[in-house]
Amino acid sequence: MSAAADERSRRSTAIFCTMVSSKANPSAKTVPAGLCDRCTHAERIQSDRGTVYIRCALARVNPAFAKYPRLPVLQCEGYEEMKLSSGQE
Ligand code: SF4
Repeated sequence: MSAAADERSRRSTAIFCTMVSSKANPSAKTVPAGLCDRCTHAERIQSDRGTVYIRCALARVNPAFAKYPRLPVLQCEGYEEMKLSSGQE
């Protein structure tokens, strides 16, 4: 998969980013991630049981940010729009 396709896939699957239903827990609650879905600092973490979390990379360097932000994030001082490459250079 190309880097651009991989990034598009990551973005599209990250729209609903916490507690994604899984084989282990098909009734798990799904919560929209809000700004984190499009933020360059958001890291998508998937547990062995299929639950998906958003981890904020800014929390490593600034304690003002929650490591696992409460979703959906509607306002955030650290938000930076994720840049999607077109795949054409
Ligand atoms: S900086 Fe804000 S919007 Fe970006 S990942 Fe962290 S909590 Fe989410």
